[in-house]
Amino acid sequence: MAKTSNDKMDRLVSLCKRRGYIFQSSEIYGGLNSCWDYGPLGSELKRNIKTFWWEAMTNRRDDVEGLDAAILMHPDVWKTSGHVAEFTDPLIDCKTCKSRFRADDLEDKTKCPVCGNQTLTDARQFNLMFKTFMGPVEDDSAVVYLRPETAQGIYVNFLNVKNASRQKIPFGIAQIGKAFRNEITPGNFIFRTREFEQMEMQYFIHPSEDEKWFDYWKEQRWNWYMELGIRKEKLRFQEHEKKELAHNAKKAIDVEYEFPFGWKELEGIHNRTDFDLSRHQKATNKDQGYSDERFKEKFIPYIIETSAGCDRTLLTVLIDAYEEDPSRGDKPTVLRLSPKIAPIKAAVFPLVKRDGMPETAEKIYHELKKRVKVFFDVSGSIGRRYARMDEAGTPFCFTIDGQTAEDETVTIRDRDSMEQTRHKIAELGDILAEKVE
Ligand code: ATP
Repeated sequence: MAKTSNDKMDRLVSLCKRRGYIFQSSEIYGGLNSCWDYGPLGSELKRNIKTFWWEAMTNRRDDVEGLDAAILMHPDVWKTSGHVAEFTDPLIDCKTCKSRFRADDLEDKTKCPVCGNQTLTDARQFNLMFKTFMGPVEDDSAVVYLRPETAQGIYVNFLNVKNASRQKIPFGIAQIGKAFRNEITPGNFIFRTREFEQMEMQYFIHPSEDEKWFDYWKEQRWNWYMELGIRKEKLRFQEHEKKELAHNAKKAIDVEYEFPFGWKELEGIHNRTDFDLSRHQKATNKDQGYSDERFKEKFIPYIIETSAGCDRTLLTVLIDAYEEDPSRGDKPTVLRLSPKIAPIKAAVFPLVKRDGMPETAEKIYHELKKRVKVFFDVSGSIGRRYARMDEAGTPFCFTIDGQTAEDETVTIRDRDSMEQTRHKIAELGDILAEKVE
């Protein structure tokens, strides 16, 4: 029987657990719905994705500064930003089977798609922000929110960053950090969760240049996914219609990926106009206006936002890389992750456990470890060790064999082509660094 896309998701989820990419949160307590933990390989992959984004969005540029703002902010920030009043989803319950739906996900709002009964409630607006209390007293005056987006931390620091960095418009502020949304219908593994990480960049511009910078960032972000190694035919742009725009946006385009469960948003690129800064100015009486020798008139900057989900990018990268290749026999699974982000860059194996091979292999391993993340393994047949690394997404395996003692060479096995070539031990570090970069 043909394997369906859902089977593929199930097999990916099981690979993630088996190889230590992703575990269910609090698993020994039965798990916590929509919360996930990143294991040894998953945490490494996530860190590599974030570094790859940070390098592209800040370190390699002169016009974008980094920021790491607190998750908890003054509660008035969220009143001003419109989140207290408008960051809601319409929620519908079934009175019979107690299923819960987002109204915009239901085609027929009269009949429950789970039990079939006509016992659906009317839609009511449900605010997605998590609340908690600051300090020992749990009353209304102590309410604070877990931020639902990292962007507001950037907006309230616009003047601080501008003054400290002496940047002139156009310039941007980038941030990676946790965000929390009490989603009505989380699911599809780590696609939609209640706690997730965003990689956001806010670019401050003159209002007359909004279209130019919108198009510029659209292109930059597309190129970033290409460099990340995502298959081009699986990506597309999708523009929001006017009626779908969020309360703070003039224009919005999503980068979408074709997941096994359909085309879905991976990143949003938004023209948020001067909405946020103007509202913060009004609420605080702190002047957010800008002028310099180029722009003589004072103005409130417009903002072009690129907002990507780190966890969603990680899921995309895994799905895009996952393949079952029948030519690999009874261990067909391979994760063709780009060497740039693969958690382990190379594995070092002695072919057998004798004739000094383990000692030589260990020496090579310790040398390479100083430069990149490598892995040492002596257990099991060489075929099994290759297969384990294919599943873990490790792009290269170095094998120390009988010939190594004679001419100081080892084989490099390429994960994708499975080809083996011989190279001098002394060259391995540079070869690896070149492939990884
Ligand atoms: P949706 O319509 O799917 O709820 P959104 O349009 O509200 O998403 P944005 O506010 O634009 O999403 O968030 C920017 C990015 O943050 C998204 O493209 C996505 O990658 C990520 N993201 C948003 N919500 C979640 C979530 N619940 N779980 C994981 N990632 C998320």
